[in-house]
Amino acid sequence: MSLHSLDYQDSREIQIIGSAWGIGAPDHGCADGPLALKAAGLMKMLQAIQVEASWRDTLAAPSGEGSALSVVSTLASRLAAQTAQVMHSGAFPLVLGGDHSCAIGTWQGVHDAAPGPIGLLWMDAHLDSHTPETSQSKHLHGMPLACLLGHGAPELTRGRASLAPQHVCVVGARHFEPDEAALLTRLGVRVFGMAEIARRGLDRVLQEALAIIQSGTLGFGLSIDLDVVDPRDAPGVTMPAEDGIRGAELVQALQALNRHPALLALEIAEYHPHRDVDGKTARLVEQMLSALLQVRHQLGASLIDLEQHYGAHNYDPLPVVLARGQGVYLWDVQGRRYLDMMSAYSAVSLGHGHPRILQVLTQQAQTLAVTSRAFYNNRLPLFLRRLSELTGFEQALPVNTGLEAVETALKAARKWAHKIKGVPGGQAEIIACEGNFHGRSTTIISFSSEPQYQDGFGPLTPGFKLIPYGDAAALANAITANTAAFLVEPVQGEAGIIVPPHGYLAQCARICRERNVLLICDEVQTGLGRTGKFLASEHDNVKPDGVILGKALGGGVLPVAAFLANKAIMQVFTPGDHGSTFGGNPLAATVALEALNIIVEERLVERSADLGRHLLAQLRSIKSPLIREVRGLGLFAGVELDTTRTTARAVVERLAARGILSKDTHGTVLRFAPPLVITRNEIDWGVRQIGLTFSEFDSELRKV
Ligand code: PMP
Repeated sequence: MSLHSLDYQDSREIQIIGSAWGIGAPDHGCADGPLALKAAGLMKMLQAIQVEASWRDTLAAPSGEGSALSVVSTLASRLAAQTAQVMHSGAFPLVLGGDHSCAIGTWQGVHDAAPGPIGLLWMDAHLDSHTPETSQSKHLHGMPLACLLGHGAPELTRGRASLAPQHVCVVGARHFEPDEAALLTRLGVRVFGMAEIARRGLDRVLQEALAIIQSGTLGFGLSIDLDVVDPRDAPGVTMPAEDGIRGAELVQALQALNRHPALLALEIAEYHPHRDVDGKTARLVEQMLSALLQVRHQLGASLIDLEQHYGAHNYDPLPVVLARGQGVYLWDVQGRRYLDMMSAYSAVSLGHGHPRILQVLTQQAQTLAVTSRAFYNNRLPLFLRRLSELTGFEQALPVNTGLEAVETALKAARKWAHKIKGVPGGQAEIIACEGNFHGRSTTIISFSSEPQYQDGFGPLTPGFKLIPYGDAAALANAITANTAAFLVEPVQGEAGIIVPPHGYLAQCARICRERNVLLICDEVQTGLGRTGKFLASEHDNVKPDGVILGKALGGGVLPVAAFLANKAIMQVFTPGDHGSTFGGNPLAATVALEALNIIVEERLVERSADLGRHLLAQLRSIKSPLIREVRGLGLFAGVELDTTRTTARAVVERLAARGILSKDTHGTVLRFAPPLVITRNEIDWGVRQIGLTFSEFDSELRKV
């Protein structure tokens, strides 16, 4: 089965697998654990809290002879296969033990089904990290964590690691042997013992553990050995250990993981019904399950209501409430996963939570974040130098958002025209294009051709002229003695990914040079690799007089933008002319410098060129009467729809239901601009979903 069946989880029905064996433990009583929990009314309890759950299977040890090793090895591989099947079906696996050797099967199965690295939170009084060489007792339930990390009998490990040690945390350990601790320390597994929990509190410890197991992983699992709980609250376990986490405290802390979007599977092991005085431990299991799994109905809907109530209605978002992002994927509050084909309008070109960005972001935030430009700081100069090396511009003026950088460019152009070109004060004109998008300030909307952007916001700023996009002759005709600059997007993004005729920018550059007019390219969206060149103006071998960058410059985590030019232009700014409190702060400069380095070192520009050709070819291969045109450059693609037959919004909503996040622009064009770190397989999967969505529409329209 393809890994991609995982990519869209339509619902998270819980499928329970009972791992009804105790052969890995000294006392086999826990083999009766899963069915005892079922008999005690587990399914009814889940139903009562509206958890959709089914009992998929019970795996028991055969009654005949066989060594514990061979029996557990067989059972674990059956459990792995079943767990993987549950994940592939889009459901959520809940494994109930049984002795803790079941973990070998559970997490190998999750590993097999997940298309990337997984994290694991292991809650246990013991470390379960023996190997046959170090174990005195030779009991297999003392070995599963070592096995999953690739250490132990090859029959159990399958000769490899299913988990990377840096993605695993143990919480609650208090009873173990030096060899086990030595193995985990050597591998670098973070162990939070009871002393640390007592000192810092369980909530804090879980928070840190969660950060560790989620860093660089696609999601994580939770494996609870019931003996992590103090025997006063959970007597019904195989190996009770004094001084554990109190039951109520654990249940309370687990609320933080309720329906966690990144929780891939859950396992609760070592329930020993024969020792469960008064059913206390079974009740605790129910409380834990309800803390973790109870559906807090309408979570997404109530958040949308809240936002609608307390927020201005200046956007009309798709009804998807996102809770988490990793690489090219996003998850909503219900745990559904989406392929991000929007990248926040290119702000997330490096993907969500790029580890290098998170690393420098957190480190610098703890060191020095904001100082204002009243002082020098030790990060800004390094960012400015790198920006200059990569773009060839002598200087840059750092600000925060794209529109601030556009404003900076407009001010630079006007002052240059007055002070250097000699245009009389207050007379400078700037030419822009119909269909442009440069931001939302009152000055910038003054030259928008979109009536809604201006409606009611006047008086508008004078001094702007509009010409048709893609028409170099119109530029030549519009220039007067007072023209300061021509401001243009090399590919118009918000207008609907409009690619101008080949050579357009080169012609504009020649006209501007001949007429002493500045050519300023707004590359807020097209820059930094989006179109398959570092700057989109390079497609025409053009070196503009000024360039505006933003969005991806902030590494997907901060607003960072800049206006770039040579000294001949930048010299018009003198101290006090222009500025911004947050512009060029050490945190922003650190993140932006790292973002630039990542773009170069991960060859994202080349990737965008290569995969962009692939994306366009794939999109063009979709045959649908609803598609009028597919166009784009690099990983910046637009699909123009025939909106006489359906609305772009309807298509975008249907795509979201298939796990693809995209956005329509101007109600007619679908935009596909994924993070540049996307892989070919991910593009293929995404385009398959897009194709299926169109076939759905086509067959519905045929029926009408
Ligand atoms: N210029 C262009 C070409 C843009 O696409 C955008 C935003 N979509 C902006 C400027 C404005 O950027 P910001 O929203 O960060 O102000």
